[in-house]
Amino acid sequence: MHIDEFEIAKLPRSQKAYEMYDVAARPDGGMWRVPVLTITSAQEGPTFVVIAGIHGDEYEGPETIANVYQQLTPDQLKQGNLVMVPFFNIPAWEAGTRTSPIDGLNLARVMPGDPNGSISYRLGYYVTHKFIDPSDMFLDIHSGGVALNICTSIYYYATDNEIGRKTKAAAEAFAAPAVIGSINPQNAVYGCSFRTCWDRNKAGMFTEAHGAGRTLPQEIECFTAGVFNVLKHMEMMEGEPDTHRTTHHLVGDKKGGGSFNASVAGYFKPAVRMMDQVTTGQRLGAILDFSGAVLEEYVSGRDGYVTNLRATPRTSVGDNVIGITGGERLR
Ligand SMILES: [Zn+2]
Repeated sequence: MHIDEFEIAKLPRSQKAYEMYDVAARPDGGMWRVPVLTITSAQEGPTFVVIAGIHGDEYEGPETIANVYQQLTPDQLKQGNLVMVPFFNIPAWEAGTRTSPIDGLNLARVMPGDPNGSISYRLGYYVTHKFIDPSDMFLDIHSGGVALNICTSIYYYATDNEIGRKTKAAAEAFAAPAVIGSINPQNAVYGCSFRTCWDRNKAGMFTEAHGAGRTLPQEIECFTAGVFNVLKHMEMMEGEPDTHRTTHHLVGDKKGGGSFNASVAGYFKPAVRMMDQVTTGQRLGAILDFSGAVLEEYVSGRDGYVTNLRATPRTSVGDNVIGITGGERLR
């Protein structure tokens, strides 16, 4: 079946199903397809959508979604629909790369997409119209790549409006170690699901994790528990969210002295570790030349915690090397 025909509103009640939906033709006569896992309650109610595999080298989301699907049955859902896509970007999955090997595009930069565009634009169109638009809560599971290490975190809109309050409460229920509010979602990078949800007034969240082309057991446990926590928070399952994993509640954006991109190429040597608390003026690291001489030094422009840290020393111009996010340590 083509994904054009997939409608969350028309899903049968009390069903658990794994289906592959066609998106576009492959040259071998087959189709590029998208896997969709659905679990519906006997009772109608809210729709929670969880997607992953927007980037082809991130595996936390697919493993989390498979865990949830294996554990959950329709009778455990009090109401509503859980709709999950474990790998949206099959072309990038096959290549094991962040971007698509077919059109070279980053799927997290082309939403809301185009149904007549190249494969990434088509996938972006279906993320937007088939999964974001009909959702009551939307979660996109990402992680760092080989080059960038990111703390285990969930992001919400730190804004004084309905979707701000809604996503903050859901992110606190998800309870990653770091719960991070984005204070200027209108400036979030264009084309990703978080920005697309914001632009369409939909409640969107995303995760980050260490990544590097493999998974860590504690992050899979955390994200799996997180999906169940949100189901409980949305009153789709019995029980209360277990929020013991959260240690930091942070807020920030990419501005204000907290994010550093390399303006020279060389060897990156950090002076801090992930989740270290830093103060304004503290030395964070440097880029060195082959002799060890300092080419560029990074000094924190704010108080906060290290949330992003380049994982590999090799650094090119424009690479993100350090991210500091303000906020408080809870425990
Ligand atoms: Zn990603």
